[in-house]
Amino acid sequence: MRMHRYDPALADLVFDYMRDRLALDPVPLDHPGRKDKLDRALEGLIGAQGNDPGDVLAVYADQLAPSVISCDSPRFLSFIPAAPTKAALLFDMVVSCASLQGISWLEAAGAVAAENQVLRLISDLAGLPASAGGCFVSGGSAGNLSALVVARDMGRRRLGVGARDRLRVAVSDQAHSSIGNTLHIIGMDALVVATTDHRLTGEALRAALAADPDTGDVIGVVATAGTTNAGIVDDLAGIGAVARERDLWFHVDGAYGGAGLLAPSVRAKYDGIELADSFVVDPHKWLFAPFDCAALVYRNPSLARGVHTQDASYLDVLHTDAPEEWNPTDYAYHLTRRARGLPLWFSLAVHGTDAYTEAIETALTLARDTAELIRATPHLELIRDPELSAVLFRRAGWDAADYLAWSQRLLAGQIGFVTPTGWEGETVARFAFLHPGTTMTTVEEILATMADPIAG
Ligand SMILES: *Cc1c(COP(=O)(O)O)cnc(C)c1O
Repeated sequence: MRMHRYDPALADLVFDYMRDRLALDPVPLDHPGRKDKLDRALEGLIGAQGNDPGDVLAVYADQLAPSVISCDSPRFLSFIPAAPTKAALLFDMVVSCASLQGISWLEAAGAVAAENQVLRLISDLAGLPASAGGCFVSGGSAGNLSALVVARDMGRRRLGVGARDRLRVAVSDQAHSSIGNTLHIIGMDALVVATTDHRLTGEALRAALAADPDTGDVIGVVATAGTTNAGIVDDLAGIGAVARERDLWFHVDGAYGGAGLLAPSVRAKYDGIELADSFVVDPHKWLFAPFDCAALVYRNPSLARGVHTQDASYLDVLHTDAPEEWNPTDYAYHLTRRARGLPLWFSLAVHGTDAYTEAIETALTLARDTAELIRATPHLELIRDPELSAVLFRRAGWDAADYLAWSQRLLAGQIGFVTPTGWEGETVARFAFLHPGTTMTTVEEILATMADPIAG
């Protein structure tokens, strides 16, 4: 078949495009899309007969790509940005071109061994025991879901109840939306613990459990190591202590903030994470890996294996008693999976962990310097000292419509992609730093646009 034959011209075409994209410095922000324009660009492109690859690539490069806001631009400061290393991006192409899957030890031992080397590093940073382990999944949401399924089943087993009994998990009112989603999917309820200053503490958890008429159905607790909106790390030591006393599964969601384990200036905030039964961190966020990559680690992986191992006769051959056997597919709800931990593995091996520490500290420093500048600017007001790399602030006199208009102007001028957020019922401005290429000059340029009243 022609389409399976190696075509050097096609390879050059795509490799040349990739070389140019990788060399962009800085990556431009680009723009939101317009459906009518995109529909026109795509019209008739897929039919019974194919097209010249150069023509198709041109549609992508000239029409589609500019309608994707580049989350790896140093001016992308919304949501959670991305800043994958070049080594990681390039190795992602190897994972694709070599069709590297990482389902089982039998099929993919070389890939699984390398992924596990990275998971070992992450568990060691968290202070989990040498027996800890897990797998890479597609994102924090998938990690939270997979971990809480194990928590639920362990809770059922401990309480001796069946699938009909609803169980609860204690969560803070600041937990990520994926936690609420997960509970809905797996048929559990939340015991929502109110926080003071948006941080869940052991004391607040203890008080909420004491105030509840019957906590016999509470089987776990979720703590956040770096809230997505404000970068707040919960009191992991206090929560972990309550979890131990009460025999609760202790899950730590560090999808965004978990990377701070590598940063000496904030490492103490994570004390207590070593008590976690399960822990998630997204390397596609602040550990500079390409999408989609989340690390899921269990203190006792055999519990996860008991819950997630799929039973199918064609899979029996994967499961032997060999001690070295490690099937990533047994530690989350997935089966087929890309060896998505390998780009991070390659980049870590090439650059070393010190380079990661330095890059993470760069964003932390930028957040602190930005907070100082906001504090020193009369018409701006810092909402909270940044704990990690998210900075919340307000512009005196602005309402929600002003923030939105300002955000759109910034993007239209390619100055920055900075979207407003909510804070205690108010619309405010938010920076999420992460890209080591974002400079104070860019921040100053953006803040300067808030000086004048919004002109209509
Ligand atoms: C981003 C994030 C998630 C969701 O992770 P995805 O990779 O987007 O699925 C969950 N929890 C926290 C705290 C996050 O920041």
